[in-house]
Amino acid sequence: MVILTSGSNQVHIKMHIGIDLGGTKTESIIIDENGKELERIRRTTPKNYNGTLDTVCELVNYLEDKYKKSCSVGVGSPGALSKETNCIKGGNSTWLNDRPLKKDIELRLNRKIFLENDANCFALSESIDGAGLNHEIVFGVIIGTGVGGGLIINNKIVNGFNNITGEWGHNQMPIGTNDKWKRHDCYCGKKGCIETFLSGPGFSKHFYDIHKIELDAKIIQENANKGDEKSLEFVFQYLDYLARGLSTVINIVDPGAIVMGGGVSNMKQIYGNINSKLKKYVFSDTVNTKVLKNIHGDSSGVRGAADLGRSNDTI
Ligand SMILES: [Zn+2]
Repeated sequence: MVILTSGSNQVHIKMHIGIDLGGTKTESIIIDENGKELERIRRTTPKNYNGTLDTVCELVNYLEDKYKKSCSVGVGSPGALSKETNCIKGGNSTWLNDRPLKKDIELRLNRKIFLENDANCFALSESIDGAGLNHEIVFGVIIGTGVGGGLIINNKIVNGFNNITGEWGHNQMPIGTNDKWKRHDCYCGKKGCIETFLSGPGFSKHFYDIHKIELDAKIIQENANKGDEKSLEFVFQYLDYLARGLSTVINIVDPGAIVMGGGVSNMKQIYGNINSKLKKYVFSDTVNTKVLKNIHGDSSGVRGAADLGRSNDTI
């Protein structure tokens, strides 16, 4: 423990560093034991392994020097650590795959660190002091270029036996009452995965299938918000698919809160309409699950990385 001297009183303050290894930016944050953010720094992500190690160490050293603290370090990474090899698997930042990222950072920093999948970090942050606060079971969803998720029970990440808990995006999209969309191939080798329907690129692709117009998901959403009928109808079809996908999660883990993250969380039509659609697909007479927009926004992943250390000793 580090001791700060404040006047004549000695004040014990623990601080926690979080680092989020994004595909384009690497972000770091330092928070105190109450979760208060003290500083945030962003760097362009070096798209190679050694550059990633250098950046992580440089950020940790800079923050520890500045705040004169030895902090816990948590890293949010794409993919997951393989239980067989202790190397990263399945990350879309491919330069990290098949590398012992956690061990190499520990060697460089000469201490143990925490490392978790970035969607797990997002979910943890929203469970601890975000939109999922006070819910026993929180499922954090990230829908952007891909579809991922993280499961938190009593403010602890559930990793699962194979380290894949929360990967609902590669389940098959269930058949529904409104099957207008085709089943596309997924990069994972299967066809019709939930991700191919719900991700941003999936959203655009299905809009093209139906209307033969190539538009970015964000533009379709903006058009819907402006009242364009064609786009709005498409958004409501999307909500039906979203409900089908989420019903597979609810039927298994039945979370009190599902917190939405990633670009799709900005789709304002979700929040007032999803529960009536969930009722069609969830095996229950009532579906009172709260489907909520994240509170910490873009910073949730990096906060969650810092929370890995904070939750280990204070929460
Ligand atoms: Zn897939």
